[in-house]
Amino acid sequence: MKPAAFDYYRPTTRREAIEKLIESGEDARIIAGGQSLMAVLNMRLSQPRVLIDISAIEELRYIERRDDYLAVGAATTQAELAEYASLTEEVPLVASVLPWIGHFQTRNRGTVCGSIAHADPSAELPLCLTTLGGEVVLETKRGKSRRVVGSDFFQGVLTTDRQPHELVTEVRFPLAKAEHRYRFQEVAMRHGDFAIVALAVDIGETEYRLGVGGVADRPVVTSISRDVDLEDALNALAWSLEAQDDIHASAAYRRHLVREMGRRLITEETAREETDDVRPSR
Ligand SMILES: Cc1cc2nc3c(=O)[nH]c(=O)nc-3n(C[C@H](O)[C@H](O)[C@H](O)COP(=O)(O)OP(=O)(O)OC[C@H]3O[C@@H](n4cnc5c(N)ncnc54)[C@H](O)[C@@H]3O)c2cc1C
Repeated sequence: MKPAAFDYYRPTTRREAIEKLIESGEDARIIAGGQSLMAVLNMRLSQPRVLIDISAIEELRYIERRDDYLAVGAATTQAELAEYASLTEEVPLVASVLPWIGHFQTRNRGTVCGSIAHADPSAELPLCLTTLGGEVVLETKRGKSRRVVGSDFFQGVLTTDRQPHELVTEVRFPLAKAEHRYRFQEVAMRHGDFAIVALAVDIGETEYRLGVGGVADRPVVTSISRDVDLEDALNALAWSLEAQDDIHASAAYRRHLVREMGRRLITEETAREETDDVRPSR
């Protein structure tokens, strides 16, 4: 099937893109890498009258380290972020998830912000953003912008807090904290498929911040104190997510993965901490 007819605009400045978005209102859709949107258009699940392509806006193609976060502009592809030399040191969680997102062909076109704006509950980047406490920057009329934390931005399956006249211009991933460790794991039918369950964890001195994707209708993050029984906490978390059966997996299997993967991710990492602490005796 082919998309319904639409007018296509390819502005070269963010100002032009935003003006077109305001002018067209709910009839317009942004297209960035097109890796998710084209399938939606081809199936006619969405029939926008106007398509605004932001891929030629060079001022939105950047990766910048600022204060305590890494800013990624809306035209930056997932492949460009993967090639950013300091990524493993600055945002190790994102560095570890990028190879899991689709295939190198999709990462060459798909943008970081497009994945966030699309808000698939199984997608890896929304999970990272939420687990790390990162933010989305939305811009509308000149000089009018707002920042929304990931946990407020994602509101359900393919549903976000973005208003029709707003452009996602940037996402901000907090830089890794000293003494914290970051781990990621997912289970999918094949490498490159969307996750059945994905887990990301930020292991701090007093608590674990555990993010779960693919189970609820959005990524969910829970803080677990290091003082509580981990298995009890993971079991309570698994039941709280209201997992559903679908063609890929049963709700019971998803709960099992949350408990089992969560236990492995955390205990393997804490065991490593203990090993690292062992000093050779003189
Ligand atoms: C074969 C295949 C496998 C894939 N596997 C995975 C996977 O394992 N994990 C995963 O996370 N993703 C996967 N994807 C999706 C891929 O990561 C997409 O690149 C991503 O979801 C969307 O990014 P995009 O730049 O292509 O956005 P587009 O497809 O262009 O847009 C997606 C949506 O976001 C909106 N949007 C985009 N940018 C903005 C913006 N700046 N402001 C406002 N709205 C915006 C669009 O209007 C649209 O609604 C896969 C895709 C394919 C084709």
